Amino acid sequence: MKKTPLRLVCSRVFAGFALLALAASALAAPRPPNILFIFSDDHAYQAISSYGDPRKLLQTPNLDRIAKEGMRFTRAMVPNSICGPSRATVLTGKYNHLNGFYNNSNSKFDPAQPTFVKNLHAAGYQTAVVGKWHLVSDPVGFDYWHVLPGQGVYYNPPMIDNGKPVKHQGYTTDIITDLTIDWLKKRDKSKPFLMMCQHKAPHREWEPNLKYLGHDRDRQYPEPPTLFDDYGGKRGLAVRDQDMSLEKTFTERDAKLITPGNLTPEQKKVWDAYYEPRNDKFRESKPTGKDLVRWRYNRYMHDYLGCIKSVDESVGRVLDFLKAEGLDKDTLVVYSADQGFYLGEHGWFDKRWIFEESLRTPLLIRWPGVTPPGSVNDRIVSNLDFAETFLDAAGLPIPADMQGRSLVPILKGQTPADWRTSFYYHYYEYPVPHRVRPHYGVVTDQYKLVHFYKPDVDYWELYDREKDPTEVKNFYADPAYAQTVATLKTELTRLRVEVKEPGEPPRTAYGNRPFDNEPQTPGAPATGKKKGAGKKKAQ
Ligand code: CA
Repeated sequence: MKKTPLRLVCSRVFAGFALLALAASALAAPRPPNILFIFSDDHAYQAISSYGDPRKLLQTPNLDRIAKEGMRFTRAMVPNSICGPSRATVLTGKYNHLNGFYNNSNSKFDPAQPTFVKNLHAAGYQTAVVGKWHLVSDPVGFDYWHVLPGQGVYYNPPMIDNGKPVKHQGYTTDIITDLTIDWLKKRDKSKPFLMMCQHKAPHREWEPNLKYLGHDRDRQYPEPPTLFDDYGGKRGLAVRDQDMSLEKTFTERDAKLITPGNLTPEQKKVWDAYYEPRNDKFRESKPTGKDLVRWRYNRYMHDYLGCIKSVDESVGRVLDFLKAEGLDKDTLVVYSADQGFYLGEHGWFDKRWIFEESLRTPLLIRWPGVTPPGSVNDRIVSNLDFAETFLDAAGLPIPADMQGRSLVPILKGQTPADWRTSFYYHYYEYPVPHRVRPHYGVVTDQYKLVHFYKPDVDYWELYDREKDPTEVKNFYADPAYAQTVATLKTELTRLRVEVKEPGEPPRTAYGNRPFDNEPQTPGAPATGKKKGAGKKKAQ
């Protein structure tokens, strides 16, 4: 028998003790939770049944499961209501003026900057992202990434699998769900996981799964009270001069009067069998004015809510998988979207504004053993808080330069006494695609003070959600609000310092298209106040 040198024996004994110590510490500190982050694109909270929209647009039983088993947040806000900037905030826990991603036109995420994903990965988490990414540069910090290029498409999507282009057949929401579950099945079970399951749906142009065409049996949907908003109430130019209305902006593609070009012949057959008879009827009746807006609103609701049905189904499949695998008790499940969306309010689709429907995003969090089931929280929280929350939940330190705050105490039902009571918002992208003028402002439980400041406007508005819940009146010049305005301006100044707002943002923050009457940037496509400008590139 070979003699083992004493030194080697000692080192083996030592290694044995070290392992025992590690095992003991692992017993003392429970394994950090798995994190399943389900993120959709443009999902209005009005389209989740547990949020109780009076129109009762549809039932979302699986999303409601998360709310029923966890916490539903009624005032989760984004600091800049569009896709890429919101995603950059989720990853970094920072405002766009610090993470550098201001808009969807010319911003590119700097992958060298810190993200919560990198920290989780360094701490031993397996990390994965599947679905919509939309940050231009490739994902970094993930063991597995399988993402849509750019906006992605609803049917038969090309995707990028850890850098390799691949093509899938089928409906994108289903494919993202399959890929999510497949990865969860084959993951390294010795480690906790972070899975970011990020849907394209229900982004414009709202193409439902074939099986959900006709899901609403040609329902005529209740209208929001502001479907025919006259943009009065002493409001300024911005709300009147936007280009995101059902009346003026909604295209034939949006209305499904044109069949998408990337369907297979079999898919196209089913698609046309649903839409064509209805489109023929529309063409024959030639509605105009309010009747046309109403027709578009109902077509929009059918399509948008049809997309949500697949998202809800996906959530159900993933939750069922967690349960079947015995992972449901150890997994923190978060459902949110990159921002809210207008479902006909103010006559609009799209997002961008500081107004409630786009400022707010749905947020449902389920964390068994931590979060009281069926709880509702109405404090101002934000996707700025997600990175901090995930790190805190994993027992990791929160970098000092992150600008949000961990939601973990709130999830435990213990909201800190000094939790935020005001929130800073800043939207940049202009003039394409929707002519929403850049603005910043402060939001509280009751008020919004907004400054529209570029390029051809410079005015303030004040909204009082208690007196005017649909936000159609500007109280800024009302003498009765003079003190409120002064107090909010002081708070806004304080917030701008706190969030390190640089003041005048760089010109590139607004995108690469010239403002009206601005000299053309060399190489940039022409734009300006031109009918139809920017309609091709939906964001
Ligand atoms: Ca979005």
